[in-house]
Amino acid sequence: DELAWDHRHASPSTMVSSSQKALIDFARERLGERGVVVDRDDLAPWLTDWRGRYHGDAPALLQPDTLADVAAILERANALGVALVPQGGNTSMVGGATPPADGSALILSLRRMNRIRRIDADQNLAVAEAGVILQNLHEAAEAQGRRFPLTLGARGSATIGGLVSTNAGGTQVLRHGTMRALVAGVEAVLPDGAIHDGLAPLKKDNRGYDLNQLLIGAEGTLGIITAATLRLVPAIARRAVAWVGLDHPRTALNLLRRIEARTDAIESFEIIPGDSLALVLSAIPDTRAPLASEHRWHVLIEAVSGEGEELDPKKLLETVLADAFEAGMAEDAVIAASESQAEALWKLRHSLSEAERSAGPAVQHDISVPVAAMPDFMIDAAREAEARFPGTHATAFGHLGDGNVHFHVRAPQGAGWDRWYAQEAETISRFVNDLVVAAGGSISAEHGIGQMKLHELERLGSPARLSMLRAVKAAIDPRAICNPGKLVSLAPASRGT
Ligand code: FAD
Repeated sequence: DELAWDHRHASPSTMVSSSQKALIDFARERLGERGVVVDRDDLAPWLTDWRGRYHGDAPALLQPDTLADVAAILERANALGVALVPQGGNTSMVGGATPPADGSALILSLRRMNRIRRIDADQNLAVAEAGVILQNLHEAAEAQGRRFPLTLGARGSATIGGLVSTNAGGTQVLRHGTMRALVAGVEAVLPDGAIHDGLAPLKKDNRGYDLNQLLIGAEGTLGIITAATLRLVPAIARRAVAWVGLDHPRTALNLLRRIEARTDAIESFEIIPGDSLALVLSAIPDTRAPLASEHRWHVLIEAVSGEGEELDPKKLLETVLADAFEAGMAEDAVIAASESQAEALWKLRHSLSEAERSAGPAVQHDISVPVAAMPDFMIDAAREAEARFPGTHATAFGHLGDGNVHFHVRAPQGAGWDRWYAQEAETISRFVNDLVVAAGGSISAEHGIGQMKLHELERLGSPARLSMLRAVKAAIDPRAICNPGKLVSLAPASRGT
């Protein structure tokens, strides 16, 4: 069944099956030359993940730009048994959009399906196609006095289809929730080509299983998202950003609870260890210590008010911080006096990963535990990891209010990156993931499972969770044509594949 793929640009190692060739021919006929990419140079950026950790291969990338074309391709792919890897901006942190290395799947890119079909400012809703880049949606909503309240570092590349499919989070989850809360409707094509039209933003809908929610966070394993109805909020009129020094993550969480009892205008509440801040200040140009004195822990707090709202976020932060000082929770604090000072405080937070990287290689984890358990987890898990792997430095920072932190275990000083990582990464990750599960948490808070965490999910998932995941996959995609080898495998995955 395997034919040599003799296209002039194809990699010599890429074999294309007769069924793949039939699908490529079908797509070329239906989409025209623009809709089918086979040139190796043009394909190259889409064969490797954002972090350069996974290298795949694929004989072609198909790029339909209408719902009807997506449906036709899925129907034909299903009939031929050809696997497809859906792809948006290719910013996945878990190798979710990278095709398998053996060229056994084609890439289905949704980037050309990039229309914003409608913005209904009165209803606070937008309907955007899968390929719309997050930043473009932000700008379109802002032009109408509205805001799509989800943002993340990859906003210039990440697409609506990818964000829906990974149930993405970011820095505003505390107030607005993840994509699950922000998606009011979904349009998708199922693996057999059937169209699911669930775009209507129904407040009440009790027709059984919530099919839209099933597709959100499915990482492209149950079909292709083609569009979504998204909730908007009023554009930001005013914002205030504060930086607080304090003694312990538990104090930080108590402070958050105290603030929440007073207001729901807090968008972000990020925790930063003192030694990570010191790294930022020494490694990142144009950064300045936010407070005059040193502290073991810091939090960044952002409050906003929307167009037409009376609330003054700066006054709000002044009041809650005065209260925090009185209660003995804050050691020191500053409120940004200008937009550029606010940006400077956020820059400290956004530079943490880069500063950590400059201090040496680290095994990174994106984990969550119940919010109330997070302060102790941050301290205890770091201590246990450092004791178990002598010479390492463990650090946790991020979205304390969401019970979600980035947990990094940094290599001992002077350890060579490649050798250390190759020898230690898997053991360290298993150790950290065991601690997370013991604390009732999740080994993936934001980034999904993809190919990176598939084995760990299978090792640590309960039999009930794994059998439900497999049953859903088998029922909706019995021929396993949608993103095989990601999130869930129909039989336990064998290691090393
Ligand atoms: P891709 O990477 O192309 O795909 C992601 C997954 O979705 C893959 O499994 C793919 O097969 C599937 N998929 C893509 N499009 C479709 C579709 N139309 N239909 C069905 N399946 C599809 N994530 C967070 O949650 N929070 C963060 O704060 C965050 N910060 C980030 C910062 C940086 C610098 C980077 C590089 C990534 C960050 N991420 C974060 C991860 C990433 O941005 C998100 O996972 C994002 O949702 C991926 O969107 P994408 O369009 O790039 O999707």
